[in-house]
Amino acid sequence: MPASPAPLSAATRAFLERRGSGTGLLIGDSWQQAEGGQTMATVDPATGSEIGQIAIASPADIDAAVEAAARAQPGWAATFPVERARILWRIADLIEANIDELAELETLDQGKPLFIGRWAEIPGAVNQFRFFAGQAMVIEGNTLESSIAYQPQGKQMRSWTVREAVGVVAAIVPWNSPLVLTAMKLAPAIAAGCTVVLKPAEDTSLSALRLAELMLQAGLPAGVLNVVTGPGAQTGAQLAAHPKVDKIAFTGSTATGRAVLDAAKTNFKRVTLELGGKSPSIVFPDADLSLAIPGVANAIFLNAGQVCIAGSRLYVHRSIHDQVVEGVAAYAKSMKLGHGLDPSTQMGPLVSAKQAARVASFVAGARAEGATVLTGGDLHGEASTFLSPTVITNARPDMTIVREEVFGPVVVAQAFDEPEDVLAAANDSDYGLAAGVWTESLSTAHRMSAALKAGTVWINCHAMYDAALPIGGIRQSGWGRDSGKQAMDNYLEWKTICAVV
Ligand code: NAD
Repeated sequence: MPASPAPLSAATRAFLERRGSGTGLLIGDSWQQAEGGQTMATVDPATGSEIGQIAIASPADIDAAVEAAARAQPGWAATFPVERARILWRIADLIEANIDELAELETLDQGKPLFIGRWAEIPGAVNQFRFFAGQAMVIEGNTLESSIAYQPQGKQMRSWTVREAVGVVAAIVPWNSPLVLTAMKLAPAIAAGCTVVLKPAEDTSLSALRLAELMLQAGLPAGVLNVVTGPGAQTGAQLAAHPKVDKIAFTGSTATGRAVLDAAKTNFKRVTLELGGKSPSIVFPDADLSLAIPGVANAIFLNAGQVCIAGSRLYVHRSIHDQVVEGVAAYAKSMKLGHGLDPSTQMGPLVSAKQAARVASFVAGARAEGATVLTGGDLHGEASTFLSPTVITNARPDMTIVREEVFGPVVVAQAFDEPEDVLAAANDSDYGLAAGVWTESLSTAHRMSAALKAGTVWINCHAMYDAALPIGGIRQSGWGRDSGKQAMDNYLEWKTICAVV
């Protein structure tokens, strides 16, 4: 695979000079090195070459970040909603004004083709801040008619509820879509009056550091956002266990979600979990195949399959199975792999050699279990991080490749005969994040969307998300929802007030 095809922009080079040598802990309004100066490398996954160093926060650094957030929280919660909204809106404007730099940084650190960040994910982050700027202004409780018998003579009972910020939030995010997933946590938390300690993924911390700079520039008071970087098992685990953290907002794997739940037990932290998925794409015989074939291919191959809502299980009606599967395989073979900064690249590398090896081992496992690798499956590139888009057939429902999240560009196709058969197969999963249904029949679309066990169902489309639309899963895909006005519930408590007046 080619090295980075063009010199980096002056803005990105300047950022890397400022923050790329381990000076990226944000505590209060101070950018710092880790106590003891410990750092780790962050690399360009397309080439394996080092981009810079990120700080490894020590327990004392994490303590200082949580203390800064705790100090800032009452003042921030007391700030007029209109002021919180104004700052959130300014953050959105600043992200938009720096979109090219942020997209370049994201591609360099994560590997994704530039167009994904530039045209989808970073505009998505902008919209998160704008949507939750509005939500900051409409936080409301209720007045309640109670049936309490206690009524002293001449007095009346009044009761009402108010919403109050949960407090200090630990936001822990993964590496697949770093900036937009970070925005999904920060925007509602800050709108609600919480303060945050953010822990970006160790492979992709850079865009979070640039975002934090922009948030300070937008006028966010010191301590409302703090950033600690470092490995998950160390920095993430210490932050999740911190006794002064009131809530953990986590996005990541189901396995880490369990560890986060354990850490939350100590002081009963509030927890929301956006976890893994194994989402079905279901193609009915009446589907418009000119939309469905590229649609189900994109559902799995976009961002090299490193998407929680990826359509990784493809169910196709037997009458069109071969046509659709051949179409998806042809799409896979036509995709141009390359460095994400090359504008002609359609698929970049996986995020790391470790992740690429993990995905390749799922493909090898499927072969060993007797499935057919119709196309793809091979690793290449100077850092062994590119995996050709892969289509697997002849799988049985009990195979690992059908049951476990791969988080790479690998789709497993199976045929079905009756709607009830495909419904049972689609719902036969530990996960319940999303599903896609491809049909021209209104009746099929309604019946399937009602019966599929998933947090989101798309009809004749896939992976459409928006700041206004709640997203999240059932079963082992998690607890709670990001985005939409429902996300405010993650960061607000109810308080009931009863008064004799
Ligand atoms: P991961 O669970 O390995 O890491 C996620 C974050 O948790 C990282 O910041 C990591 O450093 C941190 N972490 C790791 N161990 C920790 C611990 N013991 N305590 C606290 N924090 C810890 O996940 P990943 O590999 O970075 O991301 C891929 C996963 O994320 C996939 O399973 C994917 O489905 C999921 N995901 C879910 C959604 C969603 O909305 N449901 C969105 C994107 C990604």
